[in-house]
Amino acid sequence: MTENQCIFCGIIAGKIPAKKVYEDSYVIAILDINPRNPGHTLVIPKDHAGTIFEMKNEDIGNVFQSVRNVAVKAINAMKAQGANIVQSNGAVAGQMVPHVHFHVIPRFANEGPVSIEAVLQVKKMNEEMLDKIAEKIESAELENPSDIEKGIEEAVERAVPEPKKPVKEKTDFSPAKKKSKKEEELEEIDFNF
Ligand code: AMP
Ligand code: ZN
Repeated sequence: MTENQCIFCGIIAGKIPAKKVYEDSYVIAILDINPRNPGHTLVIPKDHAGTIFEMKNEDIGNVFQSVRNVAVKAINAMKAQGANIVQSNGAVAGQMVPHVHFHVIPRFANEGPVSIEAVLQVKKMNEEMLDKIAEKIESAELENPSDIEKGIEEAVERAVPEPKKPVKEKTDFSPAKKKSKKEEELEEIDFNF
């Protein structure tokens, strides 16, 4: 999708109407047209980038400061007790609009379900698997500028808003059926890494 066809670029340019609640040099913030709670706001960087990986290094700090400011405004205006700040990269992560954006969703004491488990089921992983995952993430070198650039390139390639080829589902994410203790012990998750 080019910037010309991008709905959020259209809103930033004032060509598409939106309920704007905040604007500074780096972002605009608008009410989401499908509010999950009162005050559900999208904070949209003005500079078009598909995912967070494509954002300019020098923009990230400023944009996140604006996100925090919008969250404070939304929490106080809605008299909320907390807020989720949610940001999705890539179609597999649920990103629908391919222009990076942050959801600010005020949260209230009298609502539920409250946590991330309501969206993503807890996966069973044994000690060995957790060690393997920790080792893989820790050893992904990002110390030199060239490592960072290479890492970003790889992440951009992966986190395409629309998958280039169908993603093969290797993990069974269906709701857990009642399993015997034995079955639970035998259960293995194949994450294909
Ligand atoms: P996602 O890409 O999954 O992070 O979600 C995109 C969000 O953008 C959804 O919550 C939509 O309701 C919202 N959205 C899409 N188009 C508009 C629009 N024209 N004005 C306000 N919100 C929008
Ligand atoms: Zn855009």
